Amino acid sequence: MSDATAKKEERRKFQAIKGTRDILPPETELWNRVEQTAHEVFSTFGFGEIRPPIFEPTELFARAVGGETDIVSKEMYTFEDRPYELEELPWAETGTYIKNLKDLMQKGMIPRDEATLPELEKAWEEFESTPWNADGSMPGNVLQLAEHVELLKSVIQKGHKISLRPEATASVCRAYIEHNMQQLPQPIKLYYTGPMFRRERPQKGRYRQFYQIGAEILGGTDAPAIDAEVIEMLMTFFDKVGLQGATLYINSIGHNADNCRRGYVATLKAALEKVKDQLGPDSQRRIDTNPLRVLDSKLESEQPIIATLPHIADHLCDECKAHYAAVKRQLELRGVLYQENWRLVRGLDYYMRTTFEITAPGLGSQNAVCGGGRYDGLVELLGGPPTKGIGFAIGEDRLILSLQESGKGQAQQGRDVYIAWMGERAYAAAIRAAKDLRNAGFSVELPPLEQKFGKALSQADKLGAKYALILGDNEVSEALWTLKTLSTGEQEKFPEPELIDFLRNQKSPS
Ligand code: ATP
Ligand code: MG
Repeated sequence: MSDATAKKEERRKFQAIKGTRDILPPETELWNRVEQTAHEVFSTFGFGEIRPPIFEPTELFARAVGGETDIVSKEMYTFEDRPYELEELPWAETGTYIKNLKDLMQKGMIPRDEATLPELEKAWEEFESTPWNADGSMPGNVLQLAEHVELLKSVIQKGHKISLRPEATASVCRAYIEHNMQQLPQPIKLYYTGPMFRRERPQKGRYRQFYQIGAEILGGTDAPAIDAEVIEMLMTFFDKVGLQGATLYINSIGHNADNCRRGYVATLKAALEKVKDQLGPDSQRRIDTNPLRVLDSKLESEQPIIATLPHIADHLCDECKAHYAAVKRQLELRGVLYQENWRLVRGLDYYMRTTFEITAPGLGSQNAVCGGGRYDGLVELLGGPPTKGIGFAIGEDRLILSLQESGKGQAQQGRDVYIAWMGERAYAAAIRAAKDLRNAGFSVELPPLEQKFGKALSQADKLGAKYALILGDNEVSEALWTLKTLSTGEQEKFPEPELIDFLRNQKSPS
């Protein structure tokens, strides 16, 4: 290998991991604008921001998202945490050792294990009931116990299993329970923004680290007005952010009872069995594991068959039917346009009633920019009190892509003012000018080295500056500063104090 090739190889070594990427300026400006709009709009609806951790016990996601889902079974980034370092104690203190282990496990410092905790209890009892030799030495069976403890140690000293979050609803519900939020005035309205991690096949609009903006309403009632208001908030946000051509789809999936969804699923399953051999292997498998998910299929060949399947709307119980009708009425009251989509489902039992999805143009087949729904059973499933819940998650990457495609995403970088200075005295004035202009909110480029004016002006052009402030010996001695408007080439002279006023008046509201 030649030196040059070797160098190239070495340079190629570090790249962002597949499915992850750097979001760079000027695009980050657009991201900030989107997030800022979320902060503003959500707070006008009474939502507060929560920032949960990015990793949580694997068990939390397994429980909340569901162990059989693709997310949990195939897509999570899971690893074992470093084990808790137990202090080594002399054998004479075996009892203390066992007790420490037990305490740590009870406090959750080391993983609580169904099998090892009872083992520890047994060891402790054995230890306590062993009479010591009269001369203070250890009896034989304590040595046996020591062996037993060694064995336990090798089993116990494992780190916790933790996962990078694939979504944040589980964390928000965990936080609701952990901080006893049910004791606060209900409902609790929380929103979050941040990265999520799923090991999916990367493609346009699908990444392994992606970003969501989501919100949850927990506690209080399940009044249809809540469902409608959360959707209204979402559409207000999309509108404010400038998303065009967004379509809202809604559906009701009833609740998990025989006279409602469970009855429908049985009917659906029977209908699917009849057309089984016309379905692909994924859908065939889902007939047994999760028939509702067959409705989700994007497979072209299955579409005509799915179109003949029974609709859930015809199988909802009276309460769910009334709830759905009221949600639709409430949306109309708020002027929110929607389309019904009977195939919009959620595969997990605790999801119920309202489900919704928003699609946007310019995204190819990854066109869902938001998914959401009601999940009244989730907090309870995670060990909390029975709690109503509804929420959504916006795919921020896809939202940004759609804004860019429609030309709404043009972030302007550039600077307001480039300071072209020459000479020692001019430099002192330039530093002062930069400070004053920045304090007044203008973006300013102050070149660190002296440049000829020609070079400085072409640099200003390349950076997309609006103005060049020209400071040379003349300007300083006359106390009149020259401002050049780069788009027109016009030049004007100003006394120093008037410059900022002039620029303020020129600045178009952004
Ligand atoms: P999809 O059907 O597109 O995989 P999903 O049902 O897995 O979406 P949710 O779990 O409901 O999506 O997440 C809400 C939103 O997050 C989606 O509508 C989408 O905009 C976004 N999203 C989900 N997975 C990814 C990903 N891997 N990359 C980028 N955005 C994603
Ligand atoms: Mg997905």
